Amino acid sequence: MPTVVRVALPVPLPTLFDYLPPTEGELQAGSRVRVPFGRGSKVGIVVDPSATSSVAEGRLKPVTEVLDPAPLLDGELMQTLAWAADYWLAAPGEAYANALPLALREPRPWPDTREEYWQLTTAGRSALDAGSRRGASQLLLQLLADGPQRADTLAERLPAWRAAARRLAPAGLIERHTAAAVAMPVGAPLPLSVEQQQAVAAIAAERGRFQPFLLDGVTGSGKTEVYLALIEQALAEGKQSLLLVPEIGLAPQTLRRLRDRLGVAVEVLHSNLAEGERARAWLRARSGEARVIVGTRSAVFTPLPHAGLIVIDEEHDAAYKQQEGFRYHARDLALVRARALGVPIVLGSATPSLESLANVAAGRYRALALRARPAAAHAPQVQIVDVRSQHLDHGLSPALQAAVRDTVARGEQVLVFRNRRGYAPVLLCHACGWHADCPRCERPLTLHAGQRQLRCHHCDYRSKVPAACPACGAGALWPQGQGTERLEEALVALFPEVPVLRIDRETTRRRDAFEHLLDGLRTDAPAILVGTQMLAKGHDLPNLTLVAIVGVDEGLHSIDFRAGERLAQLVVQVAGRAGRAAKPGRVLLQTHHPDHPLLRSLLAHGYGAAARALLAEREQVALPPFSHQILLRADAHERAAVDAFLAAAAAALPADHALQLAGPMPAPMALRAGRHRGQLLLEASSRAQLHAVARPWQRRLGQLPTARRVRWSLDVDPIDL
Ligand code: ADP
Ligand code: ZN
Ligand code: ZN
Repeated sequence: MPTVVRVALPVPLPTLFDYLPPTEGELQAGSRVRVPFGRGSKVGIVVDPSATSSVAEGRLKPVTEVLDPAPLLDGELMQTLAWAADYWLAAPGEAYANALPLALREPRPWPDTREEYWQLTTAGRSALDAGSRRGASQLLLQLLADGPQRADTLAERLPAWRAAARRLAPAGLIERHTAAAVAMPVGAPLPLSVEQQQAVAAIAAERGRFQPFLLDGVTGSGKTEVYLALIEQALAEGKQSLLLVPEIGLAPQTLRRLRDRLGVAVEVLHSNLAEGERARAWLRARSGEARVIVGTRSAVFTPLPHAGLIVIDEEHDAAYKQQEGFRYHARDLALVRARALGVPIVLGSATPSLESLANVAAGRYRALALRARPAAAHAPQVQIVDVRSQHLDHGLSPALQAAVRDTVARGEQVLVFRNRRGYAPVLLCHACGWHADCPRCERPLTLHAGQRQLRCHHCDYRSKVPAACPACGAGALWPQGQGTERLEEALVALFPEVPVLRIDRETTRRRDAFEHLLDGLRTDAPAILVGTQMLAKGHDLPNLTLVAIVGVDEGLHSIDFRAGERLAQLVVQVAGRAGRAAKPGRVLLQTHHPDHPLLRSLLAHGYGAAARALLAEREQVALPPFSHQILLRADAHERAAVDAFLAAAAAALPADHALQLAGPMPAPMALRAGRHRGQLLLEASSRAQLHAVARPWQRRLGQLPTARRVRWSLDVDPIDL
């Protein structure tokens, strides 16, 4: 049997590929190679440089080219990735590909990883003084007026800097340097509160060992200060720290704080970054030069040869779960890495996931609490506004309007939270009851009045607003319900003297637009903000003292077993926006269900008690985290193809499987973007038992004749069913 090189290739197949060793070059696991594949070639990762193949030598082709002089992925990452592909039932090649920045998945040499600085030339100084340039070019000259600047600092201050540099450099006005890190000023740390000190001490005592911590602290309780103190300690020992955040929208504020405080370069890894920059940051982490790395989900794959600490901020956030391709969970993967690397890992949240709370209860994580808010007067007070049989003006109750009026009269700011974009969720004919549905999803279309459009929030189908009812021809089409756009209109009418700002995906398509809007609010002037989930997180607005939450009742009736947990998290996170600074905050929650047990327990006893009650319910009915799930999803243009595949899939399970099955059945959204969707849920109390059945089953699924007529996938620990 021939000795072969076993390679992971980025194709959605649950297998590795064998090649003959190259004629030239030494091979090690973790290196990239170019290999022939089909009619072309692909870049793969060597998983095993000398395996034994059962394929006849004559049928194997040799590796075309060895791309890396040394392994790109080290032993720890290779092992973790193999484990991850196996656990999440992924195509191994896709798991390895996810770990590499896009630029490194191409057969190109590594980019230059030296730090990049820019500075003015003498001609540039004259041009600046003469004011001869306009726009971004002039701004870039101004940014460089005080001396050389690092590329990442420029990117943060002036998103368009790269294009400006491309104009100014050939004109001889600015020049690029690479240099060893220049020392940056180090900010003084805040004196930590007693609780913060205790948390830092407890975590620091586990330096150099694997130990998970849940840092449970309300928003504004100073979790970030705790991370900073721990990162400082790791730096002092020459160790690397990895900080994951759920969304890059959260990162600019955090980044500024880290850079100001730590006096070292902070590398950023997220998907909005130019590919070259991302590869550079990744390689700098791999070489150990980068000591502090901040990133979103995929940054969990950053190489950490000198690991000291891993932090997952907002650990409850669903953004950590990848929902397509390689469906991994970055928090869970980070725990596996922390164990392999032998470092403490801190999961921070004001609203911990039920999974993490269960892990605390089981003794697997140690809990640390921050109860006080050091910089704020008080935790905000949450009140229920019972709107049953009240007159609502565009969805706003009289009590809520009065509270808004009082707040802006004091010169303070209000956030009206509604988790729905657009003008109205439904457009209804008053004459015949017809309503506008998405033809591809059979769900109501949302009216976007500003654009005169009807839009599907599930598939982005768009159509013009009909002038008359298409069913009966009558003219009376009424918008039903409130989206943020309609709330904005209502609030402008009610409070014409106060600026009303809508902050959602539509008004803030560009990241700098969002930052700009927020910067305008860090003042003492009154304002009313209307926003969606985007505003629920992280942003510090010192003059925001009232949060009004409307339209959360839908979450109380959802069939998704996680809806209660999500609603509690959302309410607490949104409420946390109020009273972040010295002024006390107030939160109003408008509902038709003032006696709902979840709302009652949340308001009377806080998130911790509500979460405990939710956990007890899950335990009673054996739902995760007290059981484990794998979801088989399938979709196709024809319903029959989905049904046939799922029936065959259920029949392909071993007769004695001893799992609980739900389905085959239609997905909660049975039709989406014109494709029929169905699912089959596998459940077991033991993870090992579930995987033991699922692994061979997965191979059989790929061979089913009916599999060719559908798109299908397996999701281990799915978070939306
Ligand atoms: P979290 O990450 O829990 O939301 P932060 O660390 O962002 O909390 O802290 C919230 C606010 O409190 C910030 O403005 C921060 O500067 C301030 N803060 C945190 N710790 C202290 C402290 N020990 N003394 C004074 N202010 C603090
Ligand atoms: Zn009609
Ligand atoms: Zn649709």
